[in-house]
Amino acid sequence: MELPFAESWKIKMIEPIKKSTREQREQWLKEAHYNVFQLKAENVYIDLLTDSGTGAMSDRQWSALMLGDESYAGATSFYKFKQTIEKILGFKYVIPTHQGRAAENVLFSYLVKEGHVIPGNAHFDTTKGHIEARKAIAIDVTCPEAKDTQKELPFKGNVSLELLEKVLLENKGNVPFMVLTVTNNTVGGQPVSMKNIKETCDLCHKYGVPVVMDSARFAENAYFIKTREEGYKDKSIKEIAKQMFSYVDAATMSAKKDAIVNMGGFIATNNEEWYEGAKSFCIPFEGYITYGGLNGRDLNALAQGLEENTEFDMLQTRIHQVEYLASKLDEYGIPYQRPAGGHAIFVDADKVLTAVPKEEFPAQTLTCELYLEAGIRACEIGYMLADRDPITKENRFGGLDLLRLAIPRRVYTDNHMDVIAAALKNVYDKRESITRGVAIEWEAPLMRHFTVKLRRL
Ligand SMILES: *Cc1c(COP(=O)(O)O)cnc(C)c1O
Repeated sequence: MELPFAESWKIKMIEPIKKSTREQREQWLKEAHYNVFQLKAENVYIDLLTDSGTGAMSDRQWSALMLGDESYAGATSFYKFKQTIEKILGFKYVIPTHQGRAAENVLFSYLVKEGHVIPGNAHFDTTKGHIEARKAIAIDVTCPEAKDTQKELPFKGNVSLELLEKVLLENKGNVPFMVLTVTNNTVGGQPVSMKNIKETCDLCHKYGVPVVMDSARFAENAYFIKTREEGYKDKSIKEIAKQMFSYVDAATMSAKKDAIVNMGGFIATNNEEWYEGAKSFCIPFEGYITYGGLNGRDLNALAQGLEENTEFDMLQTRIHQVEYLASKLDEYGIPYQRPAGGHAIFVDADKVLTAVPKEEFPAQTLTCELYLEAGIRACEIGYMLADRDPITKENRFGGLDLLRLAIPRRVYTDNHMDVIAAALKNVYDKRESITRGVAIEWEAPLMRHFTVKLRRL
């Protein structure tokens, strides 16, 4: 008999979690203004809000913490971190930052000016936020197929070269860089193929435009290249990652994703001018250039996390769990962005809560329903997150309206996946009775989803 698949690690430490009653959850959600970001984490049973900073560190990472060098400048931890990034990404200039958005803030402070146009394959919300806050324009150039959630494609995160070229042509001299996000988080954790990475970079370079890789989940992207793209099955994850980065001019990274640390990020490049320019913004915003807002021990754990999460077994264990959850949803007929993404399943709320009008935020409503059903906290990646158009101030209803079930790395078991799928099925079964959604009572002008206050209709 062939042995079944199992995790490539065992558990050394556990953290208890608590169930609650529906009555309690009704009360807690009301107090949270129907915004799950406002819930107390202790009132959540299974927390799928994000895979960011929520992973379980390994025994090797915990022991690396003990070796942290907390010297203000020139700590050994910095050099270990720098060496690892140079080895895995191939960039010699590295600036640590406290997380991914801080890397964006530091680099964009140097590169982005009012009126600039910055194309990208679905900019992540903080990336778009940092562009729009500087009165520049973010233009999405993701391949149009990504919007059809039911279409099975191996690399749905790809850039549309046609859309990209149009932006580059129409904005000659006004595009400081292009952002290539791997995996493409916003359209469902969908990967970008090596071929598309190369073609995108070639096209940008033809127009003299550099490319910044937003590399929060570059290792998961490399896993998909290895398992889905022809010519890569015998290459290691580290070889594939190195090749991915070889085409781009710089990388920003939220290390809270694929480096499996609770906090951390960085900028990496071989462009000395960019490095010198960004450095001067690191010091006032983040801290001196050899710690950038992080402890020495954090830098050590980050380096160790990068090293181990660019190994095939670790990534296979992770992606297998996400695919397992997807297979349960298939069994129950629940529509999600196909195929399953690397870090999450994105349920197509528009197709689930068909009776809730888009003005009443179906995905946000589904997020509330799932929490009420079983204490599971997911995240809306839809019309609420899309914010308003900065010029017309209208809600942006043009994209997808998704409920994201983000799976933390090395945290939950497949039994938890069974509970999640069953809870969703229960909500799905009564979908026709859910006809009203939520209305906004208060919202912030930018990145409103974190703090928005809602009313149930
Ligand atoms: C999380 C994320 C960011 C921002 O990183 P933080 O560490 O949350 O600040 C940027 N881009 C992508 C693709 C992300 O997933």
